[in-house]
Amino acid sequence: MTEPKDAAARRAVEPVICYPNDTLPTPPMELYRAARDGAKKISETYAAPREACTFEVPQGSFFRISSVEGPQVGDLNLWNKNDLSERFYSGKTRALHGTHITTGERMWSSFPHLRPLATIVADTLSWYGIDAFGGSVHDVIGTRCDPYTGNLLSGTQYHHCCHSNLTRALADHLGVSDAEAEPRVHDVLNVFMCTGFTRDTGQYFMKASPVRVGDYLEFFAEVDLLGALSACPGGDCSSEHTSDAAACYPLHVEVFEPASGALEGWVAPAKNGYDGSHGR
Ligand SMILES: [Zn+2]
Repeated sequence: MTEPKDAAARRAVEPVICYPNDTLPTPPMELYRAARDGAKKISETYAAPREACTFEVPQGSFFRISSVEGPQVGDLNLWNKNDLSERFYSGKTRALHGTHITTGERMWSSFPHLRPLATIVADTLSWYGIDAFGGSVHDVIGTRCDPYTGNLLSGTQYHHCCHSNLTRALADHLGVSDAEAEPRVHDVLNVFMCTGFTRDTGQYFMKASPVRVGDYLEFFAEVDLLGALSACPGGDCSSEHTSDAAACYPLHVEVFEPASGALEGWVAPAKNGYDGSHGR
């Protein structure tokens, strides 16, 4: 289409932030930090390369995901352990915080709950910021690598995409079939993944993650959590992500419980206050 005469003026309109987040409840970071200082490790597990692990985090505890052995991206799912229908809502988290999340930001849950499931309390990659390509770390824009898209685009039958890894791990954890577990798998937080959108075509891109051995992302569990973490077959996601071609490393998950009384005064997040009537 040919441009209208006022095209430049229309493009020059200043953007408006969709969800100004200055009214979001502020997490009590000082209290979290103090509670973390005296916390003791109560469990740990590893996601093996091209596999997923599950882990449980009691409400009021912390969990840390660490890079071990080599640069590796992880795909994280979170559920309310006591009601799996409440799960991480990547799209709304993106709308509230932006395309990538870091310390002080939260993983929000699905409707009708819409409350924080977890708050990021430490991020050793927070220095990265936004690079010259528009890339940043820990994205909530990607979905999870999956065998269906691979088949659509290349006709492949690849079984160790994050979607399948998460499905098998959740099925084993719950003692149900893969078919029962699969619908519970959802869009992820891409831990350590460096991504953005190209400025010219708006396409989703990835690039080699800046993560190095010893880097970690740490969370406070706002509710009782069930987590599943896949060590993506893309490794550091520098080239591809739906094959066995990339170098892949494990990811370490550790759970820490604060000393009793350390969270004195902390109030657990209530379910969303909307009355649910939808105007009826
Ligand atoms: Zn993946």
